[in-house]
Amino acid sequence: MKFVSLSSGSSGNCYYIETKSTKLLIDAGISTRRIKNELAKLQVDVADLDGVCITHEHIDHVYGIDVLSRTYQIPIYANVLTARRIFENGHMKDTEQMCCFQKSFLIKDVKINSFEIFHDAVCPVGYTIEDGQTSISVLTDSGCITENMYQAIKKSKTVLLESNHDVEMLKTGPYPYLTKQRILSEVGHLSNVDAAQTAVRLVKDGVQNIIFGHVSSTNNCYELVYKNALHYMRMYEIDVHKDVHVDVVRKNVLSRSYIF
Ligand SMILES: [Zn+2]
Ligand SMILES: [Zn+2]
Repeated sequence: MKFVSLSSGSSGNCYYIETKSTKLLIDAGISTRRIKNELAKLQVDVADLDGVCITHEHIDHVYGIDVLSRTYQIPIYANVLTARRIFENGHMKDTEQMCCFQKSFLIKDVKINSFEIFHDAVCPVGYTIEDGQTSISVLTDSGCITENMYQAIKKSKTVLLESNHDVEMLKTGPYPYLTKQRILSEVGHLSNVDAAQTAVRLVKDGVQNIIFGHVSSTNNCYELVYKNALHYMRMYEIDVHKDVHVDVVRKNVLSRSYIF
């Protein structure tokens, strides 16, 4: 399985996952033109995508889906409440390519499981993608990690986990009070400390690749996410060169290809 982040953060989220049979995106929060150009760098034709799985209806996750679905007839997968909200918000006009799912579904032979996350959207989800050999979980835009979420992601070999903000930087930063409260809440975004503690637990449970994403450019920095995670891992006697691969993906930057 291959994973590449095309962009990660509040200015747009889009992740590419490729198996032997299938080419998918998780979210399409950047323009179709950018998706096409970034995929071309990976020698992938945008028209060959088998689908886009939507986590929730916020614009940084759905910005490109209207043009993508109409221009290239790419199926868009979302749960019913999210699909409805996408149409109400006018972020997709044509219903033809919208595929609604309950909880789990197949795209070719790839099994996609969704699980509930805590975020201020109508029915936000994370995903676990399994191709029969290996799996990846994607969990961003959640104010907390419940036991249910943890159980859903812990069996994956690779986990993309949100590490949105440093709590002190957020509290002392320029955001309005209500925005700060929203981000800090249970239905906001995950802090560096919460992400690092979850990562420690995941590595202890056998997860081999931890990729941090949806990092705030105002209330965080990439180096801090990485340093903080390593600090926690060392505290719990994890050998960060042997037991796990840790990385941070960035906004508007094509990440390296993770093969696992
Ligand atoms: Zn987001
Ligand atoms: Zn969101």
